[in-house]
Amino acid sequence: MKLIAIDLDGTLLNKENTISPENEEAIRYARSKGVEVVIATGRAEFDVRTILSATDLDLWVIGANGATIHQPNGTPFDSVPIDSDDTEKILSWLEAEKFYYEVFSDSQILTPQNGRSLLDVELDRIVSANPEADVTELEHALEKQFSQTGFYHVDSYQDILDTGSPIYNVLAFSFEKEKLEKGWKAFEGYENLTLVSSADHNFELEHKEASKGLALEKLAKHLGLSLDHTAAIGDSPNDLSMIEMAGHSAAMGNARDSVIAASDFMTKKNDDHGVAHAIYEWLK
Ligand code: CA
Repeated sequence: MKLIAIDLDGTLLNKENTISPENEEAIRYARSKGVEVVIATGRAEFDVRTILSATDLDLWVIGANGATIHQPNGTPFDSVPIDSDDTEKILSWLEAEKFYYEVFSDSQILTPQNGRSLLDVELDRIVSANPEADVTELEHALEKQFSQTGFYHVDSYQDILDTGSPIYNVLAFSFEKEKLEKGWKAFEGYENLTLVSSADHNFELEHKEASKGLALEKLAKHLGLSLDHTAAIGDSPNDLSMIEMAGHSAAMGNARDSVIAASDFMTKKNDDHGVAHAIYEWLK
């Protein structure tokens, strides 16, 4: 084993959104054996660095579901932005449909001012339709969403286009199933885009040539490694491309069924340091 790609949310991160000492130790062990480790996430790279800064780990980062690759020292290595015409189509549609959305650029997560109130309205609607509903999970999902670093608020998508910044990832978030399905239908036919989901309440769009799997392939090539000597571990459908690309794969104990079916084996859950167990299994 020469290169291990690790998803963050639901995989390396526990319920508290932190990296456990057990997982950190396992990554350090892999590094001591000469194994390269890359974080592969839908999150923006600068947000990942904030999470990693609580540890001593300097790692490669595949961000924005494969649209960016950064070296361990933070230097950009590769990026595949969404074409500006496509960005405009996506954002104008999401805004017209009153979606909460986030746009990942080089150093900021651009998002409309009114985003939070749109989600509060959705939550209120759910509670008034079913006053007994347990919204703990939904509130937890919101909390996680807003715990990212690098937010910059704008009035409208036009302000985002006006920045002229490269856009790597657009994330749309909703608590309403039908709304998410409508979004999925609107974008699944786009030839120039990759459409994935990293959690129950979102869908994400990147350039067609951006995926965690393609980014892993690029990185392995750059490091002079055969894909046979790579491994990937994750929990959600946006991990499938790298799980299929890597020579070896593991699904988290808390992974979605599609991810478990596509992986060599299932490790423990994210709250039981599943990543550490998989790393020791691979390096046995
Ligand atoms: Ca995940």
